[in-house]
Amino acid sequence: MKRPDVPWVVCWSAEMLFDVRVCPWADNRAALWQPDLPGQGKAIFEDLHVVRARRAVWEWLCPICAEPTEEGHRWWFGKGKADLIREDGTSWAWATANAPTCRRCAETAEDACPHLVSGGWHPMPFPMPDAIVASRITQAKGITLLQGQSVVGPLYFTWRTLPKGVIHAG
Ligand SMILES: [Zn+2]
Repeated sequence: MKRPDVPWVVCWSAEMLFDVRVCPWADNRAALWQPDLPGQGKAIFEDLHVVRARRAVWEWLCPICAEPTEEGHRWWFGKGKADLIREDGTSWAWATANAPTCRRCAETAEDACPHLVSGGWHPMPFPMPDAIVASRITQAKGITLLQGQSVVGPLYFTWRTLPKGVIHAG
């Protein structure tokens, strides 16, 4: 497969329309939805497409090339965040909404991503998460939810304790 110029999970300007739909990659629950029109308009590198990003986590697909990844052959750069609040009010030690990449895409990102290059970050084996957790959102651009209604937003890989190799715990 050709190395993609734009990662699979990156959002395109023609996709910046939001709605709520039942999502197979959210256990068939109501979830934030966007049309699937990759390649149309302009790539918006700072935004992940909410449905493709959720699917990447749910199906363990490489978020860059969309190929399936296998246990023991998944890579990441240790980037995520602390203190994701669980629905029961407790928090996880660490969470990331970014699915791990395949080896080839990790190497591409290491060479081509200005952010990773400037930080001197290198790919590491992805530690098996303790859970995959659906975030709940109560508002999003362009959609109106009923008062008190929440729908599934991004899915997160979560860990109870800080996984080995994370870059910052902030
Ligand atoms: Zn890949």
